[in-house]
Amino acid sequence: MPYGEYAECPKCGKKAYNKDQIEKFFGYRALKNGKIIPQSWCRDCRSSNGKSNGYGE
Ligand SMILES: [Zn+2]
Repeated sequence: MPYGEYAECPKCGKKAYNKDQIEKFFGYRALKNGKIIPQSWCRDCRSSNGKSNGYGE
């Protein structure tokens, strides 16, 4: 397992320290070159910033 599985949301400051947490709180996205990187914003911030579908508070 490579060192450096870490993600921090620049919006709310949420942190993930391993793959499980990154997958749970951030999610991954695939680049065209086949690389998989963590989303920069956490799921909460992405869903609250983007299109609102009426779910949640
Ligand atoms: Zn966030």
